Amino acid sequence: MSNSSLVRYTKISPNKTSPRNHKIDTVSIHCAAGQLTARQLLNLSSFVKYDPKNGSSCNYAIGYDGSIGLGVKEKDRSWCTSSRSNDHRAITIEVASEPKHPYAVTDEAYKALILLLVDICKRNNIKELKWQGDKSLIGQVSKQNMTVHRWFANKNCPGEYLYSRHGQIAKEVNAQLNKKTEFKPYIVKVNIGNLNIRKGPGTNYDKTGKVTGPGRFTIVKESSGKGSNSGWGKLKSGAGWISLDFTKKI
Ligand SMILES: [Zn+2]
Repeated sequence: MSNSSLVRYTKISPNKTSPRNHKIDTVSIHCAAGQLTARQLLNLSSFVKYDPKNGSSCNYAIGYDGSIGLGVKEKDRSWCTSSRSNDHRAITIEVASEPKHPYAVTDEAYKALILLLVDICKRNNIKELKWQGDKSLIGQVSKQNMTVHRWFANKNCPGEYLYSRHGQIAKEVNAQLNKKTEFKPYIVKVNIGNLNIRKGPGTNYDKTGKVTGPGRFTIVKESSGKGSNSGWGKLKSGAGWISLDFTKKI
């Protein structure tokens, strides 16, 4: 189990249970009720001082400046949400916020939160974040995989500002998760002397000419098609398509 590469500061809290006993399938966003950096948050005495009764911790802390810190490794359970079972399956994130209602967070912190959530979902194979605002769905992760502290304890957490944005947060994270990676043109070296150029991606398309290699060609589009194991590549020149079986990406 890895931790986020977005982390710029690490201060592991002694208040944790190692290892967690459940696969990560939930996220719990908290408001820290203080406009601090990730470093300052992770050095709060409640996080730093071992206290099996009142001590607390979080997997990640996000500062008002957008800094991201690690307080408890993902493989371990943080003491964050006043629920053992929730914290065993959730990644918990403390976000710096105003100290009073509605516990607003800065744009920098919000942006960092979205980035961190995308990263957490990707690495833990969480396909999308789901939010219904429905406490009765706790643990039913196929319907809802975001939980909030106020469901487990008499608290405002995560504060109205973040609570009312949970649907929007899920939407923004899911948009990033669904983004197809954009195709970037690349150069290939053609290994054979004579390679057919065809009108389309497949041997069923007419030949329009030959690549008289060996030479280097830029591929601007890829497609699968008849007669090539590696697929077909469209030449930048506009001459047509070549089988990528006879090329090497450089
Ligand atoms: Zn909380």
